[in-house]
Amino acid sequence: MLKVEEQTNDTSMARPHVVILGAGASAAAFPKGDKNGNRLPVMDNLVEVLQLAAELDKHGIEHKGRNFEGIYSKLYKNGHYSDLVAEIEMRVREYFSSLMLPEYPTLYDHLVLSLRPKDLIATFNWDPFLYDACSRNHAKVELPKVVYLHGNVRIGYCIKDMRKGLIDMRCSRCGNFFKPSKLLFPIRQKNYTADLYINSEWNSLKKILRHAYILTIFGYGAPDSDVEAMSLLRQGWGNPEQRNLEEVEVIDIKDEDQLISVWSAFIHTHHYEITGDFYNSWIARYPRRTCEAMWNLLMELQRPEDYRIPRDLDFPDLWRWYEPLITAERRETH
Ligand SMILES: [Zn+2]
Repeated sequence: MLKVEEQTNDTSMARPHVVILGAGASAAAFPKGDKNGNRLPVMDNLVEVLQLAAELDKHGIEHKGRNFEGIYSKLYKNGHYSDLVAEIEMRVREYFSSLMLPEYPTLYDHLVLSLRPKDLIATFNWDPFLYDACSRNHAKVELPKVVYLHGNVRIGYCIKDMRKGLIDMRCSRCGNFFKPSKLLFPIRQKNYTADLYINSEWNSLKKILRHAYILTIFGYGAPDSDVEAMSLLRQGWGNPEQRNLEEVEVIDIKDEDQLISVWSAFIHTHHYEITGDFYNSWIARYPRRTCEAMWNLLMELQRPEDYRIPRDLDFPDLWRWYEPLITAERRETH
């Protein structure tokens, strides 16, 4: 058994851990809604949660029992509903912008604190939780890189200077206000390369994914409407036959057979794990040392001892808990 102290002092793995977040991650983080009890919509109940029914009724659009993806795609393609489409997009932006993290540490805080600057989180979510969690922790702890694959309500960018930041801030280079990132809506042909900002986010992901040692897919259902996302992810990860030492971890409450069939293109033989609970994942069991722990288990045949994220600590104590790990990382880089 590899002791915690040895793990703390071992920062030898330079290869990244890549984490992909979907709507299921935010649903798992906030089962009772955000700070103010606002619910986290998924495609199946977005019309209800955002109270879009009246607007749709006014235009005679059938919506009862239908998934938002289907409704939106139809309106978008029709061409006669551009005002309604614009109205829906505005309501979505407003709703997601208004969501707030509770004051105590949440799953999102635990997630960003438990990965290193070499690692990357790529989210499909429009909600602001990942951005806000980074924003309240980054002065204390060095955080992983983050990319927003469908745009995000908090993110603006300056394409000329390739900078991104909080939506109503100015670019530090040219001084112009950031342009709000586009939110990519559920249509079959998303055309990720058409928007310069979103294209650059995907390129960052693909570049890092190629060298990743662990890939964690958390609450991302890989919907049929997003074949393009799957094909880009596959390109980045490569052929599972060529990646025989890496591990794929799926955090999802769906049943195992279903998950394996969705992610089979990424999984090499038995190198995968599935858990329904983030707090049983590699990230939560071996915070900031996930790749070292995996290497020790698979290559050195040494089982690393768990040292789980303490879920009940408040911020100052939580940051203090991460200090020995971060001190060891700084020693390594100096
Ligand atoms: Zn600029």
